[in-house]
Amino acid sequence: MKNKATLLRGEESLFERIGFELDGMFRKGAPVLVKLHMGEPGNGHAIKASFAAKIVGALSRIGCRPFLFDTPVVYSSPRNNPPEYLKAAAGNGYTEINIGAPIVVSDDHAKVKGKFMEYGIASAPLEADGVLLLSHFKGHVCSGMGGAIKNVGMGCMSKETKGAIHAGGEPVYTGGCTECGACARNCPTGNIRIEGGRPWFDVSWCPGCSNCVHSCEAECISPKLAPFNTLLAEAAVLAHERFRKVFAVNVMREMTQFCDCMSDPGPVLAEDIGFVFARDMLSADLASLELLKMETGREDLFMERNKVSSRRQVAEAARMMGRTTEIDIDEID
Ligand code: SF4
Ligand code: SF4
Repeated sequence: MKNKATLLRGEESLFERIGFELDGMFRKGAPVLVKLHMGEPGNGHAIKASFAAKIVGALSRIGCRPFLFDTPVVYSSPRNNPPEYLKAAAGNGYTEINIGAPIVVSDDHAKVKGKFMEYGIASAPLEADGVLLLSHFKGHVCSGMGGAIKNVGMGCMSKETKGAIHAGGEPVYTGGCTECGACARNCPTGNIRIEGGRPWFDVSWCPGCSNCVHSCEAECISPKLAPFNTLLAEAAVLAHERFRKVFAVNVMREMTQFCDCMSDPGPVLAEDIGFVFARDMLSADLASLELLKMETGREDLFMERNKVSSRRQVAEAARMMGRTTEIDIDEID
């Protein structure tokens, strides 16, 4: 199957296009889940409630019954349990009245066995007639960038699974250090010191990105289970192939250095580009990375800032889906 996506620069054309693309794809009267991140309190760059409300409006006009959905997070945050998440979301304007549809936050999940571990996949997107992945495209400290794959591979997982993916990518020193210092230089959290002929990791600061594993040419660091982006991609692919119908929209606006989970997501790194839509998460992220490269003239802007390659998660997802990383992009007005 070919990877294919479309770029739209204008917001109003996006809402019209969603109606055009999804009419007939999602059943009339059927529940359609809009999966999105409603923003950490204080983060002014996550997807705005007014924008989500227009997506809901476009789905309602073609006869679907949309609702917004997210899962609670695993780290210390007002969003780490459903009632508090709903309060935090309301603070960002996400109320049923403003959106015109129900807002659901739940940790209910079904267990699915993968190659590396068992994943808890959120029940709601598995049960919905269709899933619209509404993803803010931006940088991320662990995976370089966060887009549609991350919206599924982390955003559609249970709290327990989110923690297990991060823990599974944590480093273990296996011996043979040459003291080259590459792991320490490439750790995005400044978490590694080389002392006594080997690296030492401060696990209290380690989100398990596995960048030290990839940086060590002497191969003397292993992940506890598998590299972070491999686990993230496996979780995403297992969930995505179980969704009945998928439509992905990546929002390439206010592309910050860090993710929407942070109250301060750092600077906006690039001019707004627009909206990418595709029939699957891989195509949406491949197109977004390619457009960012074309518009900025930089190979991987997020990697320059976050030290972690944005390409690993898409390469892993493509391999697991039996696809290439080539992408065809159309642009329409
Ligand atoms: S896994 Fe990432 S954050 Fe943790 S020590 Fe390695 S490079 Fe640093
Ligand atoms: S990258 Fe490998 S060889 Fe170099 S300092 Fe780190 S552990 Fe040692």
